[in-house]
Order: sequence, then C-alpha cells, then structure tokens
Amino acid sequence: MSQITITGASVWDGVSEAAYPATVTIEGNKIKKIAKGDGPVDTQGTVIDGSGHTLMPGMVEGHCHPSFTGVGEPWELGQLCPEDHMLKTAQNLRLLLSHGFTSVFEAASAKPMLGVTARDAINAGVLDGPRMRASSPEITTTAGLGDERKRHIYQESFGLVADGPLEMRRVARECVRDNVDNMKINISGDEFVSFARAEITPLEDDELAAFMAVARKYGKTVAAHARSSESVKMAVRHGVDCIYHCDFADEEALDMLEDAKDRVILGPAFGLVHNATREGEIAGITKEVAEELNLNRKFDATCATYHEIRKRGLRVAVGGDYGFAVTPMGQNARDLEHFVTYFGYAPVEALKCATHVGAQLMQMEDQIGQVKEGFLADLLLVKGDVTKDVSLVQHQDNLTMIMKDGVLFKDPRTGFNKGGLIRAAE
Ligand SMILES: [Zn+2]
Repeated sequence: MSQITITGASVWDGVSEAAYPATVTIEGNKIKKIAKGDGPVDTQGTVIDGSGHTLMPGMVEGHCHPSFTGVGEPWELGQLCPEDHMLKTAQNLRLLLSHGFTSVFEAASAKPMLGVTARDAINAGVLDGPRMRASSPEITTTAGLGDERKRHIYQESFGLVADGPLEMRRVARECVRDNVDNMKINISGDEFVSFARAEITPLEDDELAAFMAVARKYGKTVAAHARSSESVKMAVRHGVDCIYHCDFADEEALDMLEDAKDRVILGPAFGLVHNATREGEIAGITKEVAEELNLNRKFDATCATYHEIRKRGLRVAVGGDYGFAVTPMGQNARDLEHFVTYFGYAPVEALKCATHVGAQLMQMEDQIGQVKEGFLADLLLVKGDVTKDVSLVQHQDNLTMIMKDGVLFKDPRTGFNKGGLIRAAE
C-alpha cells in the first residue's frame, strides 16, 4: 500500500500543550506512524514538505447549519424550494471542507432531509464535504423559535412545530424515520423572535420529557437551543447531550452544568452574537436595531458565561451559527479567535475545543480529533505556529494542505482543491 509522508512540520496533536517536530506517515485512510524528532526517516511513496507549518487535526464545526444559505432572516429558509436548497447545502459543505473543517456536527437542518441526504452523499463519495452527524430540523412549539407560520397566509418554516407530549413524540419519531444522527430541540426563544425573546422558555417539561424518551429509545444524540436560564436547567435535568448558547445561565444553572460536565458538551455559537453586534451593518443590523434587540446585553452575558464555564472546566465546542447574511459560511474558524479574545481561552485551549472536544461531540473520540497513530487521517498543514496564533486557521491561504480520510482535498503540491484526487491507498 502506498503512503504519504509529511516531513519537517511542527505537530500539534490535538491534546498536548505544545507542538513538537515529527514525521507523520499516512497509509490508506489512517495515520500509520509518528516519528518524533528531526532525524532522517525512511520515506516511501509521496513525500510532502511541511517546513514552516503546523500539522494539526482537521477542525470540527460543532454548531453548523450547512443548509443555512446566507439568508437575512430565518423565515427565508422556508421559501427555498428543496431542489435548490439541496444544491446550496452541498456547496456549503464543500466550502466548509475547503476551510479546514473535516467534520461538522449539524445543529439543525433547514428542511427535514437536507442534512441526512448530504451526509449519505458524502459517505458514498458522491459529494465532497466533511464527516457529518446529520440533524433533524429545529423542533419547536407554537410560538417558539422556529415557528414562522402566519394566520393569514401559508408559510413554510425552518422548524417543525409540535405541541404537547403526543405531538412531540410523533415529530421526534418522524425524524428517527428520516435517519438523523442528532435531534435538535428549541427550549428557549431568541432575541430576534418578537413573541419569544431569549429569556422566554416556550417548551414545557412534559414536552421535553416525551421528546427525550424517543431520542433515547432510538439512540439519537440531542442538541438544544437554550438561552434562558430555565431552558439550561431543563436541558440538564432531561439529559440533553449538547447545550447551545447558555448566555443567561444563572449561578444555579452553572452549578448544574458543572455537575453534568462529564456528559454534557456546550457550544456558545458566538459568531452570530459577535457579528450581529459588531459587524451587523452589512446585513442591515444597525446600531439602533442591535440596541432594540438587546444584542449587546446578549453579547456581554455570553462573554461572562463562558469565562465562568472555562473556569469550571466544562467541555465547549467551536461553532458560531454561520450561514446567515451576517455570518457568511466560510468564516467559521473565526470562532477560535473569539474564544481567545472574548472568553479568556489560551490559544491551545481554543484549538482543543475545535479538535478533541469536537471529536467527542461527533462521538468519534477514538478516531478523529488527534494526530495519533491508528487515528483517521483528517489533517491540516497550516502556515506558521497555530499554537501561538489561532487566527492563522481563518485564512484559506494559510491552509496549505487539507486531508480528510487520507484523501488530499487540498494538495500542497498543486495548491488546488482536489485538483487531482490523491488517495494514500492508491
Ligand atoms: Zn444555530
């Protein structure tokens, strides 16, 4: 079997505090050997010179909506016809891989089958894209985040609406039948929902209990939208696996999260909060609109919460709700720098969130998220030292090599994204 060997790079392996020189050999879709040090190595097959680069694990996008296609308002997602929507979703997935994300944890699909179809096409080799855990749409209640219906006109939504335990069971079972990996439930509202702001908790306990019972029975992971303090507590009480946002978590909610830290992973989805408050003008979110929607309060609350969550040692995934007009898909890696700038993370801590923690979220902790012998070869060669400056991963020009499953999606010898498909096994 032929091999690809990467020499001269500084290896940051996904778990260590510092990078080290090593030669890394890939055979088939796996990392075969890591020879630490600078010494000469016996190289066969293709050799890639990684001098001046960091070799690191491919990144995991932990709050990703590949089917959010740059719309200004969420309701616009309901206006796209499924055929067009599928193509745009496929385009986003290719874009994500070309930005160094070799895995995505889908945080809700904008229509029921978009994520599932994309995942299966990627796994079948029909579509270029990251590894994917496919999600259900956002499941919500009447008058919850994701209920975009109107009294006077037929209007598709991006959410699936269910009221009461019986309907929750039915909708959850329909998503199981669709063959999703994750189920997404909206427990709290959000600032941009006029009738259900962020600190309102539309979902009832019995609805969440019914939903969770179905998810558990079929072995699905559950991710929740939870901005209000009460929604965070409900998510912990009912055993939600991945709790997003948590902006307004009070002391009691933080204590509950800390007690559950071995089973819960959090995701601030901060890109959207950041861009809407700091760069909203490009999408019509003026300073006045931001003020009216209380966005600055949400910004400050999120920063305070994640300083605290970091101190308490909770696991946090990177991923910023990209896919709106104000958060263009492809900017996703900016969130690593946000962790450092706004939440007080050291660069290596932020990198771990985007790799090792992401792998745990993907339920692939023993296969991805590390440069380790026997692990799947999802690898990036990044110009410079990412352990000192995480902003390096934001720029495609710095991503000299992108490898997923042993395949060079971006080949450093040509610089082209999959200009020629090179599989280590070939
Ligand atoms: Zn989201």
